[in-house]
Amino acid sequence: MQKIISIVIPIFNEEQNISLITERVISVLAGTKYDYELILVNDGSSDGSAVVIDSLTKNNSHIKSLELSKNFGKEAATSAGISAAVGDAVIMIDADLQHPPELIRQLVEKWEQGSDVVIGVRTKNKDADIIKKIGSFFYYKIINAISDTYIKSGSTDFRLLDRKVVNEFNRFTEHDRITRGLIDWLGFKREYVEFVADKRLKGKASYSKLKLVKLALDSSVSHSFFPLKIAGYLGTFIVSVFGIGGVIVFAELYLFDDYFKWHIAPIVQLAVLMIFLIGIVLTCLGLVAIYIGSIKSEVSNRPLYIVREKKNIK
Ligand code: UDP
Ligand code: MG
Repeated sequence: MQKIISIVIPIFNEEQNISLITERVISVLAGTKYDYELILVNDGSSDGSAVVIDSLTKNNSHIKSLELSKNFGKEAATSAGISAAVGDAVIMIDADLQHPPELIRQLVEKWEQGSDVVIGVRTKNKDADIIKKIGSFFYYKIINAISDTYIKSGSTDFRLLDRKVVNEFNRFTEHDRITRGLIDWLGFKREYVEFVADKRLKGKASYSKLKLVKLALDSSVSHSFFPLKIAGYLGTFIVSVFGIGGVIVFAELYLFDDYFKWHIAPIVQLAVLMIFLIGIVLTCLGLVAIYIGSIKSEVSNRPLYIVREKKNIK
């Protein structure tokens, strides 16, 4: 049977881009041996996107659409599209043509060679200013230092997922989700394809810097409990340093003052004692954090493990 490739496109106020992206995607897919479907997810657009989508779906049965009841954000919109897709492979791509549709050929090629997840890696972003670039540099450094899933710097949402990855992805129930983070967490055989991100064609990016910071925070929090534990580490450090300091100060004061004659001022004694106590409080916070971390991991209810392939097992 002819295999199907699904293309998921999240759309938020992209009326000027939709026709062009669908046209370019279709011209790439029409040249392959696969059947295909395009799933346009209208994420509560307030411009004329709905009208454009409507006319496209009427004229071409390969084009399907999902209209969300309001703006839920790109992550939710992509998840909606992925769960509606029926293809043997699902490709997610931005509507603003920052992800060159022609790259789909290479994504599919790697998939044919046996990769389960093929990730578009941005080597250059013509739309990003220096602040965005520096931010993204540190984001990848930090996230890879604190989380157990490796994330290649420049990885984008432009990626292909094999059906078995899609099925696992659809099992996630967590709300604060970063689609690509979840996919990275899933593992499977990954391959990378590099591209240069073009400038957004029309309209303006809806992710402000503030939103990007929130996204970065969300994803670090969902990838790792390290931020939670910082207080605990700090506390342990303070307790050990000021514990030793306290022992020295008070031993000198009450036992060896006649010998050393340091005459430690009362305010120093008080300070050492206070900071030591603050350290204990922080250590306790760290303990609480460990419990919160375990509650979070239970609540987000991720699958315990993911099977990639079975042999001789039903
Ligand atoms: N998008 C969406 N919902 C939103 C914001 C964006 O579906 O609330 C879509 C948008 O239409 C585009 C993609 O997500 O197809 C990427 O958005 P954008 O270009 O604004 O982000 P950036 O290029 O900065 O990642
Ligand atoms: Mg964009």
